[in-house]
Amino acid sequence: YRDAWEADQKSALPLNGYIEFFEDAIDLAREADVLRAKGDARPLLGLPFAVKDNISIKGKSCTCGSRILRGYTAPYNATVAERLLAAGAIPLGRTNMDEFAMGSSTEYSSYGPSRNPVNRELTPGGSSGGSAAVVAGGQAPFSLGTETGGSVRLPASYCGLYGLKPTYGTLSRYGVVAFGSSLDQVGLFSREIDDIGLALSVMAGKDSKDDTSADLDFSALANLSPAEIKGLRVALPEEFMREKGLDPEIAAIFDNACQWFRERGAVVETVSIPVLEAAIASYYVIALSEAASNLSRFDGIRYGLRKDPGEGYDELYVATRSEGFNAEVKRRIVIGNYVLSTHFSGDTYKKGMSVRARIQRDVAEVFKSFDVLLCPTSPTVAFKLGSKVDDPLAMYLSDLFTTFVNLARIPSLSVPMGTTAEGLPVGVQICGPHYGEEKILRVAKAWEA
Ligand code: GLN
Repeated sequence: YRDAWEADQKSALPLNGYIEFFEDAIDLAREADVLRAKGDARPLLGLPFAVKDNISIKGKSCTCGSRILRGYTAPYNATVAERLLAAGAIPLGRTNMDEFAMGSSTEYSSYGPSRNPVNRELTPGGSSGGSAAVVAGGQAPFSLGTETGGSVRLPASYCGLYGLKPTYGTLSRYGVVAFGSSLDQVGLFSREIDDIGLALSVMAGKDSKDDTSADLDFSALANLSPAEIKGLRVALPEEFMREKGLDPEIAAIFDNACQWFRERGAVVETVSIPVLEAAIASYYVIALSEAASNLSRFDGIRYGLRKDPGEGYDELYVATRSEGFNAEVKRRIVIGNYVLSTHFSGDTYKKGMSVRARIQRDVAEVFKSFDVLLCPTSPTVAFKLGSKVDDPLAMYLSDLFTTFVNLARIPSLSVPMGTTAEGLPVGVQICGPHYGEEKILRVAKAWEA
């Protein structure tokens, strides 16, 4: 994997998936060989993985793609990383991301954009675009990303990978830099469903350092068999099918997928969940409010960058944040604080929250009669680098089909289900009920077979 990364860096348009490739990875790999020879049978011994730059690995930089965290070293492991390391896995390096996971293309990274291995003029998606690019580009077998509103599934769809956003609570968030705490969840990328199941089984479950982590047994994920499709009840949300922005080629691939399920005896039915049309508005209100609060800790005192004009604390705070954050992050802090302000929170924050409650209720209702919910991951295929970078609203619309999943806190797997005439990958997401990871991974395995 290091050879692949080094060779790629010399190419005309490098993927720029890794921000840093860890020097000690090769020594750890050699150590793993020795341990294996001595009979060490840990499940992930020697298996390398890449990790998004907002997940703490003890002793390594963790900068969230931002200037404001340059020079910050993580003093402890995130629980997800700790558990992978304990199982013998080897961290290969930190991957590129939109600053503080705010974006859909990695173009909002302070390290420059990543490129899509399928076509290097295109974005790999975001915000976990680096994690997708290194797996799709043959520089890692699997990787960790994070999701607040689609940041694993969208890049998975654009790069032709599997990308899982687990149920809120399946994975501990301890050591993962917070964006929208009620939405954030670590996710996984791979070419193989089994890799995702195995890594997830190792990482998941109760963590005393995160009270939102679930006390459940996830060991079945290590050994997945394909699901029986005959009799499987599949819901298709009508609101997304009618979406005017949906690319006709994606609609055709999605229809084929539905047909595949029907031919195998699944009961495929359209359902109406009108509140889904408000998902993206609700998401941006809630995510930005939580971001404004979470990002207030980057004050020039505690972490990373410090710009001190020598005129007191307020000036230090302003100077550090003015220089440290990019325009998109600043835009979100301003909107988030506006939304939370006394005068406006009734119209915005409280409404966003009540829409979210409706989404949670109506989605839960669907899962009373259906096993899975199927919809496209993105209304478009990977877009050209530069084409949306100056148009935040166009960028936000990439999240049209993904954010309801985070708001409802359900699991969803983006599955590569076809390619367009131009050869660009198209993902379809299989969403399940709370803690239905095993179910959706098994359905995807049936499709894979
Ligand atoms: N595109 C979304 C946003 O910019 C994705 C965020 C995420 O999932 N981290 O907010």
